[in-house]
Amino acid sequence: MNLYNYVWTQDGITAKDSLVYPFEERGLQFGDGIYEVIRIYQGNYDLLDAHIERLYRSAEAIRLQVPFNKEELITSLQNLAEKNAVHTDAKLYLQITRGSAPREHTFPDVPSNLYAYIEESPRPAAQLQQGVRTILTEDIRWDLCYIKSLNLLPNVLAKQTAKENGAVEAIFHKDGQVTEGSSSNVFIVKDNMLFTHPAAPNILHGCVRDRVLTLAAESALEVHETTFSTQQLLDADEVFITSTTSEIMPVIEVDGNRIRNGRPGMITRQLQLAYEQVSDIQQTAFI
Ligand code: PMP
Repeated sequence: MNLYNYVWTQDGITAKDSLVYPFEERGLQFGDGIYEVIRIYQGNYDLLDAHIERLYRSAEAIRLQVPFNKEELITSLQNLAEKNAVHTDAKLYLQITRGSAPREHTFPDVPSNLYAYIEESPRPAAQLQQGVRTILTEDIRWDLCYIKSLNLLPNVLAKQTAKENGAVEAIFHKDGQVTEGSSSNVFIVKDNMLFTHPAAPNILHGCVRDRVLTLAAESALEVHETTFSTQQLLDADEVFITSTTSEIMPVIEVDGNRIRNGRPGMITRQLQLAYEQVSDIQQTAFI
């Protein structure tokens, strides 16, 4: 996919090819940093404030200094989109690490490193229409997954296993309970009620998850932020996953078991349509 030419670093906006990283860099060597992925629809950031708030929460949790305040950060991201003349659907990747220093586990006394770049990213229209397959896999991650840290090895391995099994997402479970996806939050619908794992420290508090909860409340749908088991997942009337890039994605199969009749459900569709409206998406994926 096309990367836009200009990137933003703590030193300002620069052409992407001029960005050079030392090999003794905390993100590279320890995964000692945090990140965000932010949606852009037709050149405009979506849920920008929510992502920035979460970035600061992650930074605080790992005692990392963000080299800008929230307003400066937002202004710089707007400037980056403008400088790149972004008018398409795209996504921004932003990463902050504990800086460049000789390799020692303890914190170095150096400034943080930050970079952000924008990549074209069309909405996954066909998948949003048809739904996707998923697999189940054990959640072997640590207890602080609300921190959006660079340490994604369990997520990488799970997603790869999903791919090798013809699926697009791996759904994690721990002690029989569903936690979240390798890069998404998980919802089920049962008897016209919506269930999702509580925003506890062991899952990422997804920005799209939050928006779905708001939309559900507005539509008078009964919502339960409670854990549910892998069996409840398999027995659900509808299943969907949420994330910045995949929005509200219907799940039609879990571990080879069809959900309902293998077609996205009505409540999922209603939420997808409400999501398009509230995100001010111009080019609808649904006819
Ligand atoms: N959980 C995990 C593990 C993720 O990586 C993501 C994607 N950032 C999500 C949930 C969904 O979060 P969001 O809705 O903010 O994209």
